[in-house]
Amino acid sequence: MAEHKTEGQGRKGRKGRTERRFEAVSASSSWATLAGTVVGALLLGAGIFSQWLSSRPWDLAPWVVGSGAVVLAAVILWGDFGGKAVRVGDAGVALELPGKPLRRLGWYAVESIRVDKGQLRIVGSDTEISLSLSGDAQASAWVVKEARARIPSRVELSKEERQGLPEPSEALGTQLPVEKLQVTGMRCKASGKVITFERDARPCPRCGQVYHCESVPETCLTCEADLAAPKGKSS
Ligand SMILES: [Zn+2]
Repeated sequence: MAEHKTEGQGRKGRKGRTERRFEAVSASSSWATLAGTVVGALLLGAGIFSQWLSSRPWDLAPWVVGSGAVVLAAVILWGDFGGKAVRVGDAGVALELPGKPLRRLGWYAVESIRVDKGQLRIVGSDTEISLSLSGDAQASAWVVKEARARIPSRVELSKEERQGLPEPSEALGTQLPVEKLQVTGMRCKASGKVITFERDARPCPRCGQVYHCESVPETCLTCEADLAAPKGKSS
């Protein structure tokens, strides 16, 4: 429960929005990927040797080649090659997938967070991010901590499930500034007005719900954060 905050940090309308980045440590599936690669390559190599290079090929050689190829194909399809990282912070949860754009789910867009079959499922209306409770334990703990502070009604974990998570550690994960989010084209949650200019956008500091500057409600329609006195004292 370290309440230590670095200078200038705080949730209310600061510019310096940050998030933590966690590299996945999905040890079990990575091992399975490695083992599958080794077994597949051995089968394939032995089969090819016997079938085409050896003077006395085994009867089973084509089958060995075939099964080696099948194992390797499975590894390519379903293997875990790492490279997946998770970000958790002011802008919600984001998944880095190799070679793909960041899959981001803002807090305002989260409909529920629950535990299901060893996974923490962060479900939005059109996107879902699942984290492995064992491999992404710290990231999962941070998601739950942040979500309980921002959108508590959508966190559907039992007390036992919460206690199964590690204590979120301030020391783990790399802190990054949130990269600029695309707000133009989004609709104001209160008026439905499309945000045409970035300067008109007023995101809720707690959940990221976007409002048009002319129709900011007193409390956020999504998370009920107080929006009436934005950004310090501008009188
Ligand atoms: Zn909000």
